[in-house]
Amino acid sequence: MSVRVRFAPSPTGDLHVGGARTALFNWLMARKLGGTFILRVEDTDGARNTAEASAGIIKGLRWLGLDWDEGPEVGGGCGPYFQSQRKAIYDAYLSKLKASGRVYTEENGAVRFKFSRTAITVHDLVCGDVVFAATEEPDMTVRRPDGSYIFHFVNVVDDIEMGMTHVIRGEDHLSNTWKHVDLFHAFGVTPPTYAHIPLILNPDGSKMSKRDEGSAIEHSYMNAGYLADAVFNYLCMLGWTPKAENEKLSRSELVALFDPLAIHKSNAKFDLKKSLWFNAQYLRELSADELFKHAMPFLKAKSLSWSDEAIAAAAVYSVREKVSLLSELPDWVHYFFREDYSFEADVITKLKGKPENATLLGVVATHLSAANEWSEQGVLDGVEAAAKELNIKPGAMMPLLRFALSGQSRGPGVTTIAHLIGRDATLGRIARTLREVLT
Ligand code: GLU
Repeated sequence: MSVRVRFAPSPTGDLHVGGARTALFNWLMARKLGGTFILRVEDTDGARNTAEASAGIIKGLRWLGLDWDEGPEVGGGCGPYFQSQRKAIYDAYLSKLKASGRVYTEENGAVRFKFSRTAITVHDLVCGDVVFAATEEPDMTVRRPDGSYIFHFVNVVDDIEMGMTHVIRGEDHLSNTWKHVDLFHAFGVTPPTYAHIPLILNPDGSKMSKRDEGSAIEHSYMNAGYLADAVFNYLCMLGWTPKAENEKLSRSELVALFDPLAIHKSNAKFDLKKSLWFNAQYLRELSADELFKHAMPFLKAKSLSWSDEAIAAAAVYSVREKVSLLSELPDWVHYFFREDYSFEADVITKLKGKPENATLLGVVATHLSAANEWSEQGVLDGVEAAAKELNIKPGAMMPLLRFALSGQSRGPGVTTIAHLIGRDATLGRIARTLREVLT
């Protein structure tokens, strides 16, 4: 039997890190076993569910690269994939329970399901055998007086109708799973295999909520300058330790290694530093072109523009090891893109600190204007020639030139900066420094 799993979000807000990880584990399961991954939108709560939230969840899943085989936008044989459009199916299933005498109607019109009132054991892949004693709760309302159905009912009907073999979902649903199993039995259907995955907590152990750092996929990751591959990899580590030497693993490695039985029973803790570490590793591995493609929206957001894309890409690439997030890039490269960069306060202090700095910069400018070839080597030769004339070490010239060319005291190699901005800009910036800072 081929595996069928689903992600069944209730669209009440943005895609949350916990939901994204649930989707991810289901996706890994389907991809590993050549099964089917379904997206089903559980939007029966008209008051709380919005089309915007559904669209946001879909956007987040797409960004993470979690493609579904059936569901919104792609269709499939078990549609529609929005619960709000499946009322006729729920009515038909309610008739089945009526026929078998498992429901009764109250005076107010609510329809209640008669619990079996037997002990129910859930064989959970993560939590083991969970035994629920025969319930003493009142019978469960499955249809409200207004005709709408409750979550437990539609969730089970759809898991039957969509042929789910496994249900991987958050541990917060475990305590109600006996109700689901009771319904499956009432329909005469074998329940799917459950895997309830641990919650994600804040570093301080509190439950992660929508407002916590790192909680919303779009806000905390997409817009903050994470790469989807890094987030994908990091989310896998929240509650699962793959059997591998490293935690940094590609999508195909994660698919091959995935094992629901290896998911932790204990809750996972969100770790911002670790998520940044993952992102930094992934950023460093991109080619200059790929990095630039990802960086572009962040540069544009800071009004940086360029005429030569290859040079702009090389500038960004030159600082790839300095940052953990794409959003940090503009601060590191802005001076490649504009002549009106400002000088950091400590750079001004350092430049003004020694009266001979003006002379040193003047001599470097002379040698650089005479350089035969404008390459990193050509720039280095020019700086060395200037140092020789001044009888100082070339290394002593470099910070000074960096200050002049970038206004900053940190950055990529000075010869890289000079080479990329070109000879005219290099000489222009030295002249500007002499004029505006060293007067
Ligand atoms: N709509 C439920 C939720 O978002 C899904 C429950 C399930 O996966 O069975 O929590």
